[in-house]
Amino acid sequence: MEKIKNKKHITFIQPNLLYLKKKRKLRIEPTIYSKLKWLTPNEDFDCTLIDARIEDVDFNINTNLVVMSISTLTAKSAYYISKKFREKNIPVVFGGCHVMLCPEEAAENADVICIGESEITWPLLLEDFKNGTLKKEYKCDGTRYQLKEIKTDRSIYKKYKYVPLSSIEFSRGCKFNCEFCSYAPIYKQQITYRNPEDIIREMKENPNNNFVFVDENFGNNIEKTSELARLMIPLKIKWSAQMSVNALQNANFVKLLAKSGCKCLFIGFETTNIETLKQMNKMANLKKDSYDIAIQNCVNNDILIAAGLIVGSDNDTRETIEETYKFVSKHQIIFCNFVNLLPFPGTDFYKRLKKEGRLIFDKWWLEDIAPYHHALFITKHFNEKEMATLGYNYIKRYYTYKEIFRRFINSKYKLKSRILILLGNIFLKYFYVDLTA
Ligand code: SF4
Repeated sequence: MEKIKNKKHITFIQPNLLYLKKKRKLRIEPTIYSKLKWLTPNEDFDCTLIDARIEDVDFNINTNLVVMSISTLTAKSAYYISKKFREKNIPVVFGGCHVMLCPEEAAENADVICIGESEITWPLLLEDFKNGTLKKEYKCDGTRYQLKEIKTDRSIYKKYKYVPLSSIEFSRGCKFNCEFCSYAPIYKQQITYRNPEDIIREMKENPNNNFVFVDENFGNNIEKTSELARLMIPLKIKWSAQMSVNALQNANFVKLLAKSGCKCLFIGFETTNIETLKQMNKMANLKKDSYDIAIQNCVNNDILIAAGLIVGSDNDTRETIEETYKFVSKHQIIFCNFVNLLPFPGTDFYKRLKKEGRLIFDKWWLEDIAPYHHALFITKHFNEKEMATLGYNYIKRYYTYKEIFRRFINSKYKLKSRILILLGNIFLKYFYVDLTA
């Protein structure tokens, strides 16, 4: 293998989800790597990206360092890729949320781990890498990175044709503390924000007109979101984001979002079962009638809704899930992702199940299983076989032609949006296996 001289070469790899073996060309940009690229001085390093969701990883590439940001659902794939490169004496670095949740496990599978926000750890690692003094671990001291200085370098994406949606970050963290959420133990309800003017500058520099905010909760602070929304109005862009139900109660706020280009919101409704919501500590969803109000505000402003729905909690029965199904079906929600409740490591939910001796696998993310199609813990009202297909069966039911056309006929959205919903639903019907991703 020809040795690389002068500049050192870094290969970023976006690992595939552990249970999705199939490659698909249609992917959204993996945001983290444009940030790392921006933080990496061009005079010292060359960087390339391999997106293992799109193509196979070539383990014979000429590189000095492999870097992967890993989540719980990509950890197993990342460990496999890491093993292959380490066998060739190419050091591997892991960062990302799974490293924060399971640092010891990640350290066993890489040469270096970065714990915490990359804007703090990455420059320290680069300096050591340049000097040949890489350490085993780079860790934030607990001080949150102030997002004011954040930028991205999208040239890292040029090899691939991603979905024409540019990912962008306004805030980091969520003010809620849902029992099952893997962001909760990471950010501990602390939120940092970028300067709205910086977002506008980044949007203006990007030739793309469609953006997706990757924030855990774009509605953490209505005043700050409104300030940004007002600045986005003259840009005439389109954007989507993830937002909690409570943020969508104010009709004027939702109207402002629509005026600034909001086209679709992902809302974590999870369930209509109040006992389950309480057990989940899903405080954002507890107010009576808040679902109806949020949906009505979105429909009035022609904002499409993608609903996150979770099944398999202790208080869920066939009847309660059926109620949730009827609720979302009645409101003609474009995208309903019914998924089995997953015990992510580090969460209060995982800890509770472990204490109660109800985990079927201690580390399910390292098993050769499709987690959304497999029972991972002992539930109160469903046996293992029922649990394995619980969420998946509701997805299949939601995307039958009968249901799709019924929703199209009854929809209260404007005709253009209804056609979009119809086409989107037909598309989702044929890709519903991927919906569980
Ligand atoms: S509202 Fe959403 S992002 Fe926030 S803690 Fe709950 S599940 Fe996580």
